[in-house]
Amino acid sequence: MPELPEVEMFRRALEEGATGRKLRQLKVYDAKVLRCQETQLVEGLVGHFFHPPQRIGKYLFVPFSSGQVLLIHFGLTGSLAFFDEAEDPPRFTRVAFLMESGNHLAYVCPRKFGRLDIGPDVQSLQKARQLAEDAYTISWEDFEHHLGQTRRMVKTVLLDQSVAAGVGNWIADEILFQAKIYPERRVADLSAEEKRRIFEKMKEIIQTALAVEGDYEALPAQFLIHRRGWTQASPAFCENCTGETEYIKVGGRATYFCGVCQKKPG
Ligand SMILES: [Zn+2]
Repeated sequence: MPELPEVEMFRRALEEGATGRKLRQLKVYDAKVLRCQETQLVEGLVGHFFHPPQRIGKYLFVPFSSGQVLLIHFGLTGSLAFFDEAEDPPRFTRVAFLMESGNHLAYVCPRKFGRLDIGPDVQSLQKARQLAEDAYTISWEDFEHHLGQTRRMVKTVLLDQSVAAGVGNWIADEILFQAKIYPERRVADLSAEEKRRIFEKMKEIIQTALAVEGDYEALPAQFLIHRRGWTQASPAFCENCTGETEYIKVGGRATYFCGVCQKKPG
């Protein structure tokens, strides 16, 4: 699934490849990915120019010179690709954006869980999805406010896109590992210092993942991500304490943690 770092790479590619260019024609190959009518997309976008895209969490918002904003979500398998032959888009293209001067844009989505939508501005599209500020730019005050005093488990709350947009499964596990917090702790039981640590680790981890441009193999060796998918046959050990990596499900989501660093409270 494209997580925040991959979506940021799509944003950069789109900014580089589409900004200032005019959309000549829109071809919908599979309307299943549309959250709006095809005619709304055509009326709002065709004949207009791409403005620089914005990313909030795992969503891209692409303003056009018409004043309308295209929203792109990538689901499990979505991506963007540029291509040359208007009649020959990449495999699994669901919507093709044919440009006035070649180098067309394809919204590719093999499993069709991604979505496109259109709206009058970023704020209304964001609000309709109960999307908080982006996890990389959110302020401590807003983050702390959104965490609140809930009895929900901290891992589940971190995955809630109305708390901080863009925290996906591996990032949530990585935050809690590096902040040394057991994933099933209740938010209301966390100290102010623990919440602050979560916030700081969230920023650091996203910054590190962006610096390696989403190439997870290049993340530092002590990151928990390298011990995800460990098996009982070949156990993985924490680089900080040599504790064994453990696996549980939290709210139905695969969760890895260090049994020693992230000790379960008595
Ligand atoms: Zn450890």
